[in-house]
Amino acid sequence: MTEQTDAQLRDEVTAWLAAHWSPERRGDKTWLAEVVAAGWAVPRWSVDWFGRELADPQARIIERAFTEAAAPGSGQDRTNLWANTLLAKGTEPLKAQLVGPLLRGEVGMCLLYSEPGAGSDLAGIRTRADNQGDRYIVNGQKVWTSTAANADYGMLIARTDWDVPKHRGISFFFCPMKQPGVEVRPLRQITNESFFNEVFLTDVEIPADNLLGREGEGWGVLQTALAYERSVMGEMARGPRSGVKDATAEEPLIALAREAGVLADPVLRQQIAQAIAYKRLNALNTARAKADLAQGSSSSIMSLGKLAMSRILHEEARVRTAILGAESLYEGKDHPRAEDANFLTLNAYFTSIGGGTDQIQRNIIGERVLGLPKEPELDRDIPFRDVRTQGG
Ligand SMILES: Cc1cc2nc3c(=O)[nH]c(=O)nc-3n(C[C@H](O)[C@H](O)[C@H](O)COP(=O)(O)OP(=O)(O)OC[C@H]3O[C@@H](n4cnc5c(N)ncnc54)[C@H](O)[C@@H]3O)c2cc1C
Repeated sequence: MTEQTDAQLRDEVTAWLAAHWSPERRGDKTWLAEVVAAGWAVPRWSVDWFGRELADPQARIIERAFTEAAAPGSGQDRTNLWANTLLAKGTEPLKAQLVGPLLRGEVGMCLLYSEPGAGSDLAGIRTRADNQGDRYIVNGQKVWTSTAANADYGMLIARTDWDVPKHRGISFFFCPMKQPGVEVRPLRQITNESFFNEVFLTDVEIPADNLLGREGEGWGVLQTALAYERSVMGEMARGPRSGVKDATAEEPLIALAREAGVLADPVLRQQIAQAIAYKRLNALNTARAKADLAQGSSSSIMSLGKLAMSRILHEEARVRTAILGAESLYEGKDHPRAEDANFLTLNAYFTSIGGGTDQIQRNIIGERVLGLPKEPELDRDIPFRDVRTQGG
């Protein structure tokens, strides 16, 4: 592909969007396919994989044009956890089968990592995958599995070797979910929603081509996938559930305080300013960190952004509640402002627990960024078969 100047690229993408995009196309299933075919979805990737081989600054020009037009689908080379992990670590047949459909949003996905006895200590998983040559047979249980009910595949970690220390016996798979041995049971969340599930796996079959990385090297693949997940969580957060749009383009907290008649309150003003400052600072820090990074290469930097976002979400929800005062005690559809504040207060735990808790992000930052001594881990170097567990 011939090199373009920034101005030529900006003109090309803007003209393409003007010719193809309109807000009515939101939710139109063919839109993403067009974005992918035109090379706008993953511009940093190679031409063989739907990309344009652009460096980060030019890829950002494309993303900015999409953001300005409020058109979805670009920047997936940063944000599409599934496609990035598959492209980095998958076998050629699996990449040929799924990278395109993942970018076009045609495949439902979930993460089969956590188990009842292994969350923060993920290397303690007990779900087993037994190698049968052309396939693996999986047995075990996963929990907190978001979106499992509609998933076509789950990114699964399972133990393939019980005779080596815990980090070394794990393998990473794309597990087909639509088969008889996969049972998905919904769980109810603190927000009263039901996005996550228990997943029971009984004699589940996974083709050998669906192994990512080599057998027993799944821990390394997981670190790549977690870095992408944390990076996305560090940048994004869900807004109010009521879907009520703020009438003005100003910061939601300022708009809320104005509406509630407390914008002149000096203490609230200070709290609002601080919450907004955290958010701006995190956006700048994330942009700076990413500018220096190869894609998904440093989970410690991603941990910093995710930890900051968790603090911001808790703080914004607290300030929202303070702005509303006693009104925040209401619930229900007749009180959308209170419902939003309460939803955001509870939903802030999504970011401070999901994808690795705040405490775990602090451990990572302490050990890998600050060089503090590692936490003692008594079961690190013994064969997993000999690790003692509660009642065992
Ligand atoms: C909304 C939501 C969605 C999720 N979606 C998924 C999903 O799709 N797939 C999936 O696999 N998982 C998912 N999870 C699970 C999530 O990754 C785990 O809940 C998380 O890793 C914590 O594990 P745990 O719940 O077993 O808690 P535990 O590991 O038992 O931790 C309990 C407490 O102890 C603290 N703690 C544990 N170890 C240490 C330590 N070494 N140092 C300091 N403190 C420590 C933790 O910070 C926490 O406060 C989701 C969770 C949430 C909340």
